[in-house]
Amino acid sequence: MSYQTSLSKIRESTNAQVLEAWRVYGLGRITKAQFVQLAAALILQANGKAAALADLSLSAELYRLTGDTHAPLGVLPSGYDQPRLQRGVETLLVDFEAGEDIDARLTRFATNAPLGAATDAYSEGVKQSTAVEGYVRQMDSDPCQLCRYWWREGRIWPKDHRMPHHKGCACTHRVVTVDKIRSVSR
Ligand SMILES: [Zn+2]
Ligand SMILES: [Zn+2]
Repeated sequence: MSYQTSLSKIRESTNAQVLEAWRVYGLGRITKAQFVQLAAALILQANGKAAALADLSLSAELYRLTGDTHAPLGVLPSGYDQPRLQRGVETLLVDFEAGEDIDARLTRFATNAPLGAATDAYSEGVKQSTAVEGYVRQMDSDPCQLCRYWWREGRIWPKDHRMPHHKGCACTHRVVTVDKIRSVSR
């Protein structure tokens, strides 16, 4: 299963779990505070899975490119913690109470967080890996103007340049290994 497919599965199941928690809250079986806590915990867990997936995928990709094994680096998800996610869910609930549709917004929240966590973890892995020289931004099938700008006509970015992304951005890294650079310049 490809990185993209596995990541989609994590996003879909997180979404289903968060919507189920919302349904249970709607039935009055859990309190609002419990819903907020549960939704945030589900998303936090998904971010952890997404980061581990990115780490594993990078190691598989490096094996494919170099023929050498590169152990996963143990990259952890960054940027999100339980309190921050809870604040995010609470903001959605405030908007809901103001009359906004919540399902679509919960879905965006539950699916975008692991996507961003995966990209950040991949960036971190790329930065830490001694086999990687840099990467090219691989745009998704329907890139927006911002992502095209960040792509810069396919330039090779140095590995410590963290790939920028926005909410819902499905761009990925195409890694360039150290050996590859050497053989190109030869
Ligand atoms: Zn974009
Ligand atoms: Zn993008």
